[in-house]
Amino acid sequence: MLYDKDVTTHYLDGKKFAFIGYGAQGHAQANNLRDSGYDVIIGVRQGKSFDAAKRDGFEVYSVADAVKQADVVQILTPDEVQADVYKESIEPNLKKGATIGFSHGFNVYYKEIVPPEDSDVIMMAPKGPGNLCRRTYKEGFGVPALYGYYQDASGHAEDKSKEFAKGNGAARAGLLKTTFKEETDEDLFGEQNVLMGGVTSLIETGFEVLTEAGYSPQLAYFEVDHEMKLICDLIYEGGFKKMYEDCSNTSEYGSYIRGPQVIGPESKKAMEKGLKEIQDGTFAKEFMDDYRNGFKKLYAYRAEMEQSQLQKVGDELRAKMPFVNDADKYSTPEA
Ligand code: NDP
Ligand code: MG
Ligand code: MG
Repeated sequence: MLYDKDVTTHYLDGKKFAFIGYGAQGHAQANNLRDSGYDVIIGVRQGKSFDAAKRDGFEVYSVADAVKQADVVQILTPDEVQADVYKESIEPNLKKGATIGFSHGFNVYYKEIVPPEDSDVIMMAPKGPGNLCRRTYKEGFGVPALYGYYQDASGHAEDKSKEFAKGNGAARAGLLKTTFKEETDEDLFGEQNVLMGGVTSLIETGFEVLTEAGYSPQLAYFEVDHEMKLICDLIYEGGFKKMYEDCSNTSEYGSYIRGPQVIGPESKKAMEKGLKEIQDGTFAKEFMDDYRNGFKKLYAYRAEMEQSQLQKVGDELRAKMPFVNDADKYSTPEA
């Protein structure tokens, strides 16, 4: 891990940054970099984000007009639209030798975007959601980040990625070196198999087993969904050891014996298949094809999730527990 004192070069001093997109990450990174003394402008389409960036006191342009002025172009639109925005508005307007940055390797790794050879292509990927990155920065700290490069035209691409991360406050918490391949493979693997896909399937299946056996949906919700956060917080704070210390011996014993019966060799095989489909581009193609087809599958899955009994029972119970929505008190881990 690198910290502030380890990042001593100055290849980004005096450079003009254009943040493309002013959403979760764009908002956080642009404000953090500006507060760290960098010259920051925003490039985004007309709409909610455009207005928000103006209100926050930035010079806001169309993507094309922001790119024309920028020495560093940090691309922070949603991943699926980056290739279109790049082809239409970034590539034709890029200054010769401008640095191009990302917070996720997806588009470069899967060659949806092929940057010009004379550009440094760098990564600065905060390991936390935007609101947490901004809040911790203001508190004088930061969220750890990954840094690295895909293409080193200047000989200083890695230095630039580190300086960028430092400007974002991340070097106060720690910087980890990565590659576009590693970051993309691991990020997709984690969210699909463990953090989001794995956890939601686990909760959903547990809820089904209990309710199909005649147990009340409300109680089932508490046992397999609501309590997930409490367990995750303990794991986050002190690993499995702290979690087990805070729980009963009965639960600890049962967990060692029955856990591997549920997530065993078959699940491991499924995860290995999932990893392979990330590495060979199968997943990326599936996702981009659905996007180019109007996200028909994504919207259908979303509708099904919203209509599920688990979601509805949870909504009813959460409405009676205002404390569960105290966002300032509880931070959300990144996926
Ligand atoms: P958001 O969806 O929060 O924000 C996207 C921004 O792009 C919005 O300002 C949106 O504007 C703008 N935008 C959308 N379409 C266009 C378009 N066609 N032309 C111009 N601007 C457009 O994205 P995130 O911040 O979540 O993600 C950005 C990147 O950061 C992704 O690569 C993601 O993988 C990565 N990342 C995200 C993290 C997170 O915390 N969410 C964590 C780490 C990495 P509008 O308001 O008009 O829609
Ligand atoms: Mg991700
Ligand atoms: Mg219990």
